[in-house]
Amino acid sequence: MSGKAVLVVDMLNDFVKGDLKCKRAASIISPLRKLIQTARVKGIPVIYCNDSHLKGIDRELLLWGDHALAGTEGAEIIEELKPAAGDYVVPKRRYSGFFQTDLHLLLDELKVDTLIITGLLVNICVRHTAADAYHWGYRIVIPGNAAEDITEEEYKNGLDYMTKIYGAELTSVEEVIKEF
Ligand code: ZN
Repeated sequence: MSGKAVLVVDMLNDFVKGDLKCKRAASIISPLRKLIQTARVKGIPVIYCNDSHLKGIDRELLLWGDHALAGTEGAEIIEELKPAAGDYVVPKRRYSGFFQTDLHLLLDELKVDTLIITGLLVNICVRHTAADAYHWGYRIVIPGNAAEDITEEEYKNGLDYMTKIYGAELTSVEEVIKEF
């Protein structure tokens, strides 16, 4: 077992193309695709952590409006990054991919100690997922060209916070692939 896994956070229709569109997300699709495809070839687990909200219940919907509702097209992973056989999909109802999900159990079973965290949004769901990854003791790697946020400021703030507070290693898809 490699010890590594690639986490793909919220690369869903609603965030890339729909109601809560992050325009800057388009720029990471191609590098992320390369990262995911290489990981599959090298036997490194690819795990999607996806918003899958319950309408009328989840508190995130009060703050952001309805988005990524469970069972809708908006909550589906974008066509360009569709999961392949052997990938894992972990639905979440809060910002963090760990909160009340089976992500930690899955990573434990896969013998993963290093998380390569990618996707959206750097200063919200990626950041909260990194927080729990830090709390659980994982090494955190963030390829900067495979993660995005609505603005440059949010993007920089998120990366800066995660490197300072969680010891996240900021790198690129190209560098990550070299070490696979
Ligand atoms: Zn959400």
